[in-house]
Amino acid sequence: MARTALVTGGTRGIGEAISIALKNAGYNVAATYAGNDEKANAFKAQHGIAVFKWDVADPEASAAGVAKVEAEVGPIDVLVNNAGITRDGMFHKMSFEQWREVLSTNLDSMFTVTRPVIDGMRERGFGRIINISSINGQKGQMGQANYSAAKAGVIGFTKALAQENARKGITVNVIAPGYIATDMVMAVPEKVREGIIATIPVGRLGEAEEIAEAVVYLAGDKAGFITGSTLTVNGGQYIAG
Ligand code: NDP
Repeated sequence: MARTALVTGGTRGIGEAISIALKNAGYNVAATYAGNDEKANAFKAQHGIAVFKWDVADPEASAAGVAKVEAEVGPIDVLVNNAGITRDGMFHKMSFEQWREVLSTNLDSMFTVTRPVIDGMRERGFGRIINISSINGQKGQMGQANYSAAKAGVIGFTKALAQENARKGITVNVIAPGYIATDMVMAVPEKVREGIIATIPVGRLGEAEEIAEAVVYLAGDKAGFITGSTLTVNGGQYIAG
């Protein structure tokens, strides 16, 4: 029987590519989003992938959303915690709201979405949890103290959860993308983008599909001995030890 995968923020950008790649690999896929109904409905119509709307920062909404996905699509075997936002600014000018929004969407969501999923995975003795961090959680980035903190937190969370669940057939890993040619990155002025590309040894931005392929690999049976790891997919821009 086909396995079920839940991709948060799975209707747009990197998440969209992940949802499509998992569907093409034979999974039943559910993709979540926050508020962009137009994009989510177009994605659903184009790809025949079920979409669910809730705020991953909200624990009650996430518990209810996961229950709905499991009732309508199936028990979740693969969870991709991908939803994320930025609210950039130098720390000395950053508001607590900018901090709180980024921490709750990018890091609280690790709790709110994974917590209602983990019991079922433990009972069934199989699970794949793939958390999307960022190069900027590994190296820190000026203007992103909030985002860097949240994305570094994702890595610590992953290492702990991997150890707790290793005997239950569940692997938990991080993918840390570098700069990927999504709307967000393509929206920056061309000159700035060229400056970024100059710092990437491979000499180009990454493609969302290149993150998606890494997800499909980590989700598969053959990746069962990989847990607690961080897979960097960044064109060599930051090579962690
Ligand atoms: P996008 O902004 O293109 O898409 C974000 C997705 O997450 C959308 O589907 C959005 O829904 C959803 N989302 C945002 N906030 C919430 C929320 N509170 N609750 C539920 N869903 C939410 O992002 P990217 O594809 O660029 O990024 C995806 C992930 O990859 C993020 O975690 C990001 O931090 C990380 N990343 C991205 C990089 C890049 O270069 N783009 C580099 C490194 C990491 P809606 O459409 O409704 O807004």
